[in-house]
Amino acid sequence: MNCKSLQPAAKKCVNEDCELHEKGFAKYFCNICNLFDDRPRPIFHCPYCNTCRMGLGLGIDFRHCMRCNACVSLADKDHRCIPQKLQGSCPICHDTLFNSTEPLKGLRCGHVMHLSCYNQYCRGQNYTCPLCMRCMEDMSDYFSLLDQAVRMQAMPAAYQNTICNIYCQDCEKTGECRYHFVGLKCTQCASYNTREMGRYEQLAAFPN
Ligand SMILES: [Zn+2]
Ligand SMILES: [Zn+2]
Ligand SMILES: [Zn+2]
Ligand SMILES: [Zn+2]
Ligand SMILES: [Zn+2]
Ligand SMILES: [Zn+2]
Ligand SMILES: [Zn+2]
Repeated sequence: MNCKSLQPAAKKCVNEDCELHEKGFAKYFCNICNLFDDRPRPIFHCPYCNTCRMGLGLGIDFRHCMRCNACVSLADKDHRCIPQKLQGSCPICHDTLFNSTEPLKGLRCGHVMHLSCYNQYCRGQNYTCPLCMRCMEDMSDYFSLLDQAVRMQAMPAAYQNTICNIYCQDCEKTGECRYHFVGLKCTQCASYNTREMGRYEQLAAFPN
C-alpha cells in the first residue's frame, strides 16, 4: 500500500509512519535509473552501460566488455566482440538491445539477441541466425550426428543418382551433393546449413 506521500523516487517511503518506510517500495531500486523492480530475479546496475541489467552483478555472473560496450555473461566463454551492433534491435522480439535489462547473447556471426529470446528460438529447433542465416553456434557435433544418419540410412533406389545443386548458408558457396533426406552437406565447409537450389539425375554414378 502506498500512503501517497509526495516524495522523490527512492527505495523507501519518506513517511516514517508508512509501512513502506521499513519495507521499501520494491525488492530492487536503482537510484540512477529510478527503476523499481519487484520480480523474483536478481538485477544490478552496470555503471559502464549506465543501465540496469538482469543478473547478480559485475564480476559475479557478468562482466562489462569495453570493446562491445555491453555486459556479457561470464558463462559465455567464447564471447566474440560485437562493436556497434547493440544500437539495433533484437531480431526475435524487435525490442532495442542496448537499453534492455535482459542479458544478451552474441552469436558466432556477430549478430546479437536477448539471451531469453535466443533460448526460446533454440527450443523451436532453430540453429541459424534469423538475420544472416548462418549457424548461431559451432554445429560440428550436430553435423557429425547427421553424417552418421546419412551413412546408416541408404536412400531408396529411385534417389540413388539424384544430385542437388546447393547454396551453403555458412560459407556462401554453391556446390553439388547427393540428395539425402537427412540433409544436404556442403562439400566445401561440411555444413548441413544449406539450401537446395535444384536437382537433377546423374546418369553415371556420382562419386561419394
Ligand atoms: Zn508511503
Ligand atoms: Zn540502474
Ligand atoms: Zn555493462
Ligand atoms: Zn566484447
Ligand atoms: Zn529479444
Ligand atoms: Zn547473423
Ligand atoms: Zn559451406
